[in-house]
Amino acid sequence: MYRDHTCGELRIGNVGQIVTLAGWVQRSRKLGGMTFIDLRDRYGITQLVVEADAAAELVDVATSLGREYVIQAVGEVVERQSKNPKMPTGDIEIKLQRIHILNKSVTPPFTIEDESDGGEDLRAKYRYLDLRRRPLQRALALRHRIAQEVRNYLDGQGFMEIETPYLIKSTPEGARDFVVPSRMNPGQFYALPQSPQTFKQLLMVAGFDRYMQIVRCFRDEDLRADRQPEFTQIDCEMSFVEQEDVLNMFEGMMRTLFKNVLDVDIPNPLPRMNWFDAMDRYGSDKPDIRFGMTIHEITPLAQGKGFGVFDTAKYVGGICVPGAADYSRKQLDELTEWVKRPQVGAKGLIYIKFNEDGTVKSSVDKFFSPEDLWKIGEALEAKKGDLALILSGDSSRKVQTMLGVLRLEMGSRLGLRDPKVFAPLWIVDFPLFEWDEEENRWNAMHHPFTAPKPEHLDWYLSDKQEDIAKVCANAYDFVLNGNELGGGSIRIHDAKIQQRIFEILGFSQEEAEYKFGFLIHAFQYGAPPHGGLAFGFDRVCALFGGCDSIRDYIAFPKNNQGRDVMIESPSKIDQIQLDELEIELRKPEQESLPRSPRHP
Ligand code: ASP
Repeated sequence: MYRDHTCGELRIGNVGQIVTLAGWVQRSRKLGGMTFIDLRDRYGITQLVVEADAAAELVDVATSLGREYVIQAVGEVVERQSKNPKMPTGDIEIKLQRIHILNKSVTPPFTIEDESDGGEDLRAKYRYLDLRRRPLQRALALRHRIAQEVRNYLDGQGFMEIETPYLIKSTPEGARDFVVPSRMNPGQFYALPQSPQTFKQLLMVAGFDRYMQIVRCFRDEDLRADRQPEFTQIDCEMSFVEQEDVLNMFEGMMRTLFKNVLDVDIPNPLPRMNWFDAMDRYGSDKPDIRFGMTIHEITPLAQGKGFGVFDTAKYVGGICVPGAADYSRKQLDELTEWVKRPQVGAKGLIYIKFNEDGTVKSSVDKFFSPEDLWKIGEALEAKKGDLALILSGDSSRKVQTMLGVLRLEMGSRLGLRDPKVFAPLWIVDFPLFEWDEEENRWNAMHHPFTAPKPEHLDWYLSDKQEDIAKVCANAYDFVLNGNELGGGSIRIHDAKIQQRIFEILGFSQEEAEYKFGFLIHAFQYGAPPHGGLAFGFDRVCALFGGCDSIRDYIAFPKNNQGRDVMIESPSKIDQIQLDELEIELRKPEQESLPRSPRHP
């Protein structure tokens, strides 16, 4: 037996026992002739001590230990002279009788402690060492715990976990597919699933009325911060349900997770906000409602006073930052530069300070009287001491979106976005389509299988663009603290409606048949009404862990360039493999490895 206890287990009640531990040497140090060793495993750290008068052989081995050596240690649990209240095992130590070195380690490239001295790239290259660190061990333990809770809850509700294939045909979720060439069918390719969307709908046709899967999805997108090309969803689908049934089921799941994992009670029922309100008031379809500072339109109040920028704008709107009237010239200049960054994209920023003494000061004093400014203040719900920040432009959505970004920034600057505060809500009633200006066509806002609201029948049958624009869906997102954690919809189960939606989306009949014929056919064999949703599992874990980055919650993530720097992937492949796949590269000399014998 390698061990009879873990390194996180022993307490004062174990004093007097002879125990055997195994683990990694985090540190060893000599102090007044004694050797102290911190022995680590995933359960914790236990201090081992070799007394000055111990057998010379033992002292020799103890002093020879390097960082990350794997050892087995036998000794007696004793009460510590100087206790360490910060460690769960801090009341005891092990007075060693024997040490076996199970394996040596070369010097690790960084210190494997809570706070490592290794930079991000180095830690990514040696991810298996980084994963020995407690913060990452905790993160993965949390992930495991959440997965168990999800499975328990959904199992209790009669959901079946069913695996769907990874080598499939394109699923349209708005990203590019990762493709896999088929050797047996030269010139043909599988696509990796962007989600199991079509398969879960086929499972509904097959009668598995409650399906769930914790499943990997693949999307080839330009990687924005904190996106991963492969990520995990909690994917679910239900038959014979309306939107209300789906929302209740998954509100229940999230409530259970919050309670069982974090001991947090979330509101019951959860607030719901319609998509249009979210856009108007928060400039985002994933509003952070931990704080107010909502957006208000002030176009009528801002126009007709001779200020050209406002007079020529289609929309003028603002937010009111509480208690920020004392912002200095320098701070305001900095903020103006900030909104001009490409990430925000504003041309400039107008401010009004509503001073404590009742006076007002603004960057447009020339055009607006104090009374005019206070009227604007009223519309923005400003009080004395507040600062109004105003943007304008020729598209209300664009300006609202910019104000939304500014609002989040001001929320952060004012410390109103505490990760320990949780403010979940549902966003509902999404438009079914969004206009793609570049491509000059309609896109599905969610995906093409989302059902239009039945009461909007006339609009989606109409051939007028303005009618199509008005069609809404029974689609919903679960939003937490400014993040979309999940989303889904009631689906189309009528082959004719599905064909009409494909038509609006610009798929020719042949194209629709080629891409989704299997689904359209399946719908002809008694497809039940159905709907579902998927949660981004990595993000759920990160937010539950109070962390912004999902990378810490994935054992082996990719970096910002979509690379795994540990295994050095993606990488070139062998010419033999290319030949077998009948693939020719445009620049063969650069792009493939030379022919080499196949490994057994
Ligand atoms: N397949 C959708 C997605 O990946 C979720 C759903 O509609 O259930 O976003």
